[in-house]
Amino acid sequence: MKFSIQSRNDSQSNELKELAKNYLQDFGLILDEVEPDIVISIGGDGTLLHAFHNHVKRLDKVAFVGIHTGHLGFYADWKPSELEKLVLCIAKNQYKVVEYPLLEVNVCNHTEISSYLALNEATIKSPNVTLVMDVFLNDRHFERFRGDGLCISTPSGSTAYNKALGGAIIHPTLQAIQVTEMASINNRVFRTIGSSLVLPAHHTCKLKPVKNQTFTMTIDHLQLDHNELDYIIFKVAKEKVRFARFRPFPFWERVHDSFIASE
Ligand code: NAD
Repeated sequence: MKFSIQSRNDSQSNELKELAKNYLQDFGLILDEVEPDIVISIGGDGTLLHAFHNHVKRLDKVAFVGIHTGHLGFYADWKPSELEKLVLCIAKNQYKVVEYPLLEVNVCNHTEISSYLALNEATIKSPNVTLVMDVFLNDRHFERFRGDGLCISTPSGSTAYNKALGGAIIHPTLQAIQVTEMASINNRVFRTIGSSLVLPAHHTCKLKPVKNQTFTMTIDHLQLDHNELDYIIFKVAKEKVRFARFRPFPFWERVHDSFIASE
């Protein structure tokens, strides 16, 4: 089996990376940064987001697992002290793979379509001025949004930026995406729904700019600048992300341990 290790690049994560690499090679596993079967991320959730985007073109061939060298993460849920146990499980192939849904983003202008996959979310904002966008659900006009921006998240990303915006937490077995407002303008003249919208697979959310604005878009930790755009379409992607699971750590327990109290 081939593995690669993504480190956050701080001294603790780098030390652990060296240790993990040596252990895995002792078991006969092959280090392959380009075409690994398993990617071990050492750092935090942000490190796993980087690992995801490094291997986004071959998601069907790779499984991810995360060790946290800071606080417990949603994707990085193994402790550094569990490294030997983790290596043993990988070497003996003692794991199952769980798949979580992703968000597909298609940014369209008159000449081309740029497509992206997000593990957590995509956001769209308009720096310094109010964002004005027509929102279409399944190609029907739904509302004209005015406000700071919109966040469209995956179920596993619902505990990240989306949660800070007051969105719902969605279990990742649900094939869905969530559209959450950032500070919408609501008064006697302007009106938005105000609540987060949860869209099932095969439904689309389309955003169409109303005026010529400069936009800032993010896909997870990545920032994109698309000034010339006709519309953006968001939907549940057909691709999935695969996580290697070595022991049960149910989603609601992770939510509890991350946000309420850890045992
Ligand atoms: P980072 O790695 O420092 O992540 C920021 C925080 O978000 C960390 O505490 C991390 O553990 C947490 N996080 C990331 N994914 C999570 C998830 N799926 N569930 C629960 N917590 C999660 O920063 P980065 O490398 O820039 O990561 C980008 C992510 O930061 C974005 O995808 C976005 O979700 C998050 N973010 C959050 C806010 C906010 O909460 N107000 C604002 C901007 C970005």
